[in-house]
Amino acid sequence: ATPLAVTVGMGRGAENGILFKSSEAIQRVGAIKHVVLDKTGTITRGEQVVTDTITVAGLSGERLIEMAGSVERGSQHPIATAILAEADRLGVDTTMPDDVQSSSGQGVTAVWKGQRVRVGNQRFIEQEASIDPTLQTRAAELQRQAKTVMWIACEGEVVGLIAVADTIKPESAEAIARLHGQGIVVSMLTGDNQHTAAAVASQVGIDDVMAEVLPGEKTERIRELQSRGEFTAMVGDGINDAPALAQADVGIAIGTGTDVAIEAADVTLLGGELRGVSRAVKLSALTMRNIK
Ligand code: ADP
Ligand code: MG
Repeated sequence: ATPLAVTVGMGRGAENGILFKSSEAIQRVGAIKHVVLDKTGTITRGEQVVTDTITVAGLSGERLIEMAGSVERGSQHPIATAILAEADRLGVDTTMPDDVQSSSGQGVTAVWKGQRVRVGNQRFIEQEASIDPTLQTRAAELQRQAKTVMWIACEGEVVGLIAVADTIKPESAEAIARLHGQGIVVSMLTGDNQHTAAAVASQVGIDDVMAEVLPGEKTERIRELQSRGEFTAMVGDGINDAPALAQADVGIAIGTGTDVAIEAADVTLLGGELRGVSRAVKLSALTMRNIK
């Protein structure tokens, strides 16, 4: 039978927007030694907005958005949504591409108006176009401002950059400070670029960053921490995060996220409230004390 203290603890959690999936979950949370946070949608709001467009070779900014936006019509990624919103804002019409290939955690490639167009991160673009050092410098500047930079190549030539920015949740820094206060190590795990990830991490007080990790590799990173004997929690919101949530000793879904993430998690924090992680740890400790 479930001890009364556990039932009470789960009820108190629910009152505070912390949904424990099982009585076992509330008992495990108190043992967390390492919390891994997804960046986009967990530390940040996950609502990306286009902030900069940089073009080369006489291409206009609007034409670049038209080209990238058309190709992104074949993608479900939040970055695709941001670029298409920018096209709308500018009154630019995008058209459906052909032969769309989405590369998870890297970008998208398609044929648009008979030309091969690729939109994605630098490593992805480097596979088919050479990177101009001046443009590379501009990209690095944008990344230091915590922006995510997409490269656009057309027929094997780089034609421009599009940067998107996201807003850090106002409570993220405090949520992380509270976890540190509980003796918990906090890391960030993201598919985004190293520089962008480091800029976000420094703003919220995280010192351990795992960046440029492909979706399929996120589970492996969690397993590595576990093999060091660390009881590890993963906090995330996206479809990409579900396997890592399932692998972690405790999977915590941010409630504004996808159903898939919530399904894979042991704990759901309603309203995307990141401070709920340290609250859950405290509630678990109190509950376990009442059992003994
Ligand atoms: P996260 O860990 O933030 O969820 P993802 O694994 O989804 O990141 O993506 C990693 C990186 O791959 C993005 O920062 C972006 O540079 C690139 N990327 C992914 N999908 C797309 C897309 N549809 N268009 C352009 N770039 C993309
Ligand atoms: Mg993601």
